[in-house]
Amino acid sequence: MSTIPEIELTSTVAQATFQLGKLKELISYLQNHSPYYRKLFITHHISNDSLQSLTDLEKIPTTSKEDIQENNFDFLCIPKNQIIEYTATSGTMGAPLTIALSKNDIQRLAYNESLSFGLMQLDANDIVQFMLTLDRQFMAGMAYYLGLQQNGASAIRTGPGLPAMQFEVMKRLGTTTLVAVPSFIIKLIEYAQKERIDLASLQVKKILCIGENIRNEKFEFNALGRFIKTHWNVQLFSTYASTEMQTAFTECEFGHGGHLHPELILTEIIDQEGRTCAPGEYGEVCISHIGVEAMPLLRYRTGDICCMHYEPCQCGRTTPRLSAVIGRKKQMIKYKGTTLYPPAVFDMLNQCSFISDYIVEVKSNDIETDDLVIHISTPLNVDECERKLKPFFQTTLRVIPEIVYKSSYEIHAMQFPEGSRKAIKFIDSRKNQNL
Ligand SMILES: [Zn+2]
Repeated sequence: MSTIPEIELTSTVAQATFQLGKLKELISYLQNHSPYYRKLFITHHISNDSLQSLTDLEKIPTTSKEDIQENNFDFLCIPKNQIIEYTATSGTMGAPLTIALSKNDIQRLAYNESLSFGLMQLDANDIVQFMLTLDRQFMAGMAYYLGLQQNGASAIRTGPGLPAMQFEVMKRLGTTTLVAVPSFIIKLIEYAQKERIDLASLQVKKILCIGENIRNEKFEFNALGRFIKTHWNVQLFSTYASTEMQTAFTECEFGHGGHLHPELILTEIIDQEGRTCAPGEYGEVCISHIGVEAMPLLRYRTGDICCMHYEPCQCGRTTPRLSAVIGRKKQMIKYKGTTLYPPAVFDMLNQCSFISDYIVEVKSNDIETDDLVIHISTPLNVDECERKLKPFFQTTLRVIPEIVYKSSYEIHAMQFPEGSRKAIKFIDSRKNQNL
């Protein structure tokens, strides 16, 4: 098992002092090397003297995804011949961003993911099957792979898809740990049921669940997590990461949020105006890099909505933890006096076995709030479905949206509009999507 870094065990005051020093270094570095931030600092009269404590961070304007989209290479702080790797965001939310990395940035990524595997208590005896893309400019795949090399466990790069091959490898090599998207784990379970593969006979004990939530706001398993746990006796670990952050936050064995890494990144939860939210309050994750050379970011708004937990964790780490991402800021729905995010609606619908398929749509109305419409297909007749669904909406979401019944064919057509390779579950038809 990897040892826990000293800084993740010290007092929160010591962590803040360390981070303040690193942020001052970041501001000096950006002033000297970043065309984008140099201009921003001149306009807003910012220097490293502007920071006397971490609360002064609020004086610094935030950076958005659009800022990077419009000025991508003005964020580059090193000569191009020192770039070791070009990665890119997936482009599911607008044009892809290029994130370039130096040799040290790649080592920083590897260190980060070795901490993730340390949180999962993996050691040299573990055999880890990577069921995710390792190429296509995907940063996370590379990061996990390099991180595992530092951890000392063995890697198997099977890539995504192909359940038959995945099971053949698990059996042949005695895989102990999977790294995969939880919805693919569900596909594996369904395949095993169909092919009569006894999951308990495999050596798999742990799964690192990437890209999708497996827990709700109370750290309980959501419908996805519960389904996996019901059918496969494994330990599930959630992780939250993004290409722009160049950092992952993985939960420890106690499963109470992703542990922050103060030596790699400063994480704030902020409101619309860029002010720090109170502990326990949900807001946008905003990050500042520590130790990034090629494209470091200062107060970058991720668009992800989380809250921070400061109470001590049973694992002994003193670092705060991030909740599950409850949604994207731009997808916030204001409906009948309630604020909702699509993942909560998905989780609720995933629990209804009588719904074959669904699409969640949000529209604008005349009174400047949103209308929520759920398109569903079900084998039940409409009355029976309404009798089951409406009380369930009321208890889980506290509101009952409009329900539109469709055939499976119609839902499928909505899920795969022209040019789409991935099924769509959420349609935002609002006039002004940038809330
Ligand atoms: Zn912990």
